[in-house]
Amino acid sequence: MRKKIVAGNWKMNGTLEEGQKLTSEIVNMVKDEVKGEVIIVLNPPYVHLQSVKKLIGDAGNIFLGAQNCSDKSAGAYTGEVSASMLASIGASYVIIGHSERREYFKEANEELTGKVKQALGNRLLPIFCCGEPLEIREKGNHVEYVTQQLTESLFGFSEGEMKKIVIAYEPIWAIGTGKTASSEQAQEMHAAIRKHLAGKFGKALASEISILYGGSCKPDNAEEIFSKPDVDGGLIGGASLKSRDFVDIIKSF
Ligand code: PEP
Repeated sequence: MRKKIVAGNWKMNGTLEEGQKLTSEIVNMVKDEVKGEVIIVLNPPYVHLQSVKKLIGDAGNIFLGAQNCSDKSAGAYTGEVSASMLASIGASYVIIGHSERREYFKEANEELTGKVKQALGNRLLPIFCCGEPLEIREKGNHVEYVTQQLTESLFGFSEGEMKKIVIAYEPIWAIGTGKTASSEQAQEMHAAIRKHLAGKFGKALASEISILYGGSCKPDNAEEIFSKPDVDGGLIGGASLKSRDFVDIIKSF
């Protein structure tokens, strides 16, 4: 059985106080309302990680994640944060290769391999993002584009390493736009991703990998998207900043 995961990506939002309020609300609502086996991951900005960790406390189904890590282990890289630092403060997951980092910080597939390597080497579970821009979707080349991202960044890993990687399919045209992919579009791509992984790592391993959908996922469309057989959860941006919306998305499973 693959893991069902709902991860909130707070991006660069919220003061310390706002982050604490949001976390406390989510923790309390999850305790009262969420039954079942969904894994919840909160990915606040670096500076809030420790305070969020403290507030998560012993909630066994809520985990801490970061939004990025360095592809280097340590040294003279001003402003960077290493995977070992994240692990040392209790992070379990790290988002790697979000489209905003690819676009604004020019993160390329090769560098992303280095980040995944650092994450795995420090026992963090990478949430590896992939997804196509609008012009590629309009040309009908979205499957080739996304599978190439996976090949270039992930196909050098062993089966044991690949097993630990979570994939997040996030069509760029759907991120923060309010324009979500239809559940059929999500299923088509998730099935294609799984088939591509099966071609390299085998069918059994591919069937164990959680593939999350991201892109304007909200309480009113989550249930339909999560109902598709190859969609194993969501990476949630805007709606993860509202405790009620985020918990309602979790409850869509
Ligand atoms: C994201 O940034 O990962 C994301 C999915 O954003 P949103 O939900 O706001 O589209």
